[in-house]
Amino acid sequence: MATAASPSERLSSYNPATHEVIGSVPIHGPAEVDAIVARAKVAAERWAQLSLAARREELTAFRKALAAHADELADLLHRENGKPEIEALTEVMMALGHVQHAGACAEAALAPRRVSAGLLANFRATISYHPVGVVGVIGPWNYPLFTPMGSIAYALAAGNAVVWKPSELTPLIAVKVAEIAAQSLAQPDLLQVVTGAGPTGAALARSAVDKIAFTGSAATGRRVMTAAAERLTPVLLELGGKDPMIVAEDADLGKAAEACVYGALTNAGQACISVERVYVADAVHDRFVDEVVKQVRNLKVGGDDGHLGAITSDAQIAIIKDHLEDAVAKGAKVLTGGPAAISGSYVQPTVLTDVDHRMKVMTEETFGPVIPIKRVGSVDEAVQLANESKYGLGSSVFAGKAARAIADRLRAGMTSVNSVMAFAGIPSLPFGGIGDSGFGRIHGDEGIREFTRIKSTAEQTMALPLNLMSFRLPKEMPARLRQMIRQLYGDGVVAKAGDWLRKLRS
Ligand code: NDP
Repeated sequence: MATAASPSERLSSYNPATHEVIGSVPIHGPAEVDAIVARAKVAAERWAQLSLAARREELTAFRKALAAHADELADLLHRENGKPEIEALTEVMMALGHVQHAGACAEAALAPRRVSAGLLANFRATISYHPVGVVGVIGPWNYPLFTPMGSIAYALAAGNAVVWKPSELTPLIAVKVAEIAAQSLAQPDLLQVVTGAGPTGAALARSAVDKIAFTGSAATGRRVMTAAAERLTPVLLELGGKDPMIVAEDADLGKAAEACVYGALTNAGQACISVERVYVADAVHDRFVDEVVKQVRNLKVGGDDGHLGAITSDAQIAIIKDHLEDAVAKGAKVLTGGPAAISGSYVQPTVLTDVDHRMKVMTEETFGPVIPIKRVGSVDEAVQLANESKYGLGSSVFAGKAARAIADRLRAGMTSVNSVMAFAGIPSLPFGGIGDSGFGRIHGDEGIREFTRIKSTAEQTMALPLNLMSFRLPKEMPARLRQMIRQLYGDGVVAKAGDWLRKLRS
C-alpha cells in the first residue's frame, strides 16, 4: 500500500459479527492524500502513453493475480463486511468479470469515431477519447470490492491512474487489492489507496484528481460534489436507491417470489439495487405474499453457512430499526421478523404488508433485509407508485407479454424483466441512476468513456475558393447567405451539403 508519509494515527477494522479487531490502517490527512495524488499524476502520464494492447496485457496480469488471491479476498470480505462466504466469493467473481470486460472492450470503446461534417463537407470530423488523468474513487462498505472495481477497472482501462478511498468500515480489502496491483502491474503507483474516515474522503474530493467517482449516500454525494466544485472537478455519483418491483396478475408467481426474496435479502439487503418495495396485483397479492413468507422462513441468519450475514455497522442497524418501527406505528403488518427480532448485529428478514407511502420503509433507503409488499389495483397504479420516488436506480417487473412495455414506463436507470438485479451482472450494460440515485455511468462502453475527455477534431481536407471563416468575403455574401438560409432551413428547397459545396465553388 502507498504511504507518502507515515501517519501516526491508525484506524481499526472490525469484524461486525464478532466485533473483533481484524487489522488497522493509517489515517491519511490532506498532505498525504495530495502527495499520493501527485505520484498518481506521474503514473497516469506514463500509463496513457502505452498502447491499448500493452494496457490490456497489464490489466490481464492484474486480473490473474486477483483471481489467484480469490480465497484471501473473499475471506477478508466475509470478515470485514459480515457477508456469508458464498456472497463474498460471488462478489470476487463479479469484480473480476468487470476487470476482464473493461480490459477486453477498451479498444473498441475508445476507438476514434468519424462523424458527418454536415455542411462543412470539406472537413474530416473525428471524435476521440483521451484519459482524464487521475481518478479518485470513493467506495462504499456494502460491496467493498465489486462496487469500486466498477469504477477502478474502467478508469484504468481508459488510461488513467486511480487513487481509491475505501470506507472506514472496510479498508483492509482495498489495501490488499492495492498490494496485488503493486505486485502485478509493471507500472508503479497506478492503483493507490488512501485510508481513513470521512475527512480522508473529503481531502481526496478537494485534491488535484481529475475526476471523482463516488458511491454512497445522497447526503455524502452532495458534500463530495460541493468540495469538487472548488476546482470544477467532474464527478460521477452512484448513490442509493429505493428500487421497486412490480408483480402483475399474469406473472409467474413462483419465480417472482424467489427473485423477490433474493433481490431484497442478498447481502442482508445492503445493496444499492436491492428490491426495497414490492407492488403486487390485487388478484395475486395473497398467493404471492404466502410464497414469499414460506421462502423467507426457510432462510438461516448468521453462522458461516447462513443465507444472511451480519449488518455491517451499528449505524445501519439503527436506520433499519427506525424504518421498521415507523412502519409498524403507521399500521404495517409484520409477517416475519420485525423490529423486535433485531438482536446484536443481526436483523431477521422482515416481510411487511399493509404498507403505504407515508412510511419511511416505502420512501427512504432502508438498506436492510426488509420486504414491504403493497397491494395495487392495476398496473397503472403500480407504475405510478413505483415512479413516485426521489430515487431512480434499479427496478424490476414480473409480468407476461406486457412486461417489457411496463419496464419502459419506469423512471429508473436500469430495469430487469422477469428477473432481479440482472443488469448489474451484464458487464456491457451501463450502470447508474437518475434523481437522488446520482448521475454518470460505470460498466460497459459508456463506463469506459466516462473516464475520458472527449476531443473533437475538424480536419480540413480540401480548401474552398470561398472561405466562410475569413473576413475576406465578397460584398454580395449577405445576399448569398440569406438565400442559403432559406434553401437549407426554410420552406424552400431542401439542399444537400453537396449542392451547397457546389454553390460555394461556383
Ligand atoms: P456514506 O455515503 O457516508 O459513505 C460512502 C463513502 O464516502 C465512504 O467511503 C465514506 O467514508 C466516504 N465519505 C464520508 N464522508 C465523506 C466526505 N465528507 N467526503 C468524501 N467522502 C466521504 O455512507 P454511509 O456509510 O454513511 O451510509 C449511509 C447510507 O448510505 C446507507 O444507509 C445507505 O442508505 C447509503 N449507502 C448507499 C450505498 C450504495 O451502494 N449506493 C453504499 C453505502 C451507503 P467512511 O465510510 O470512511 O466515512
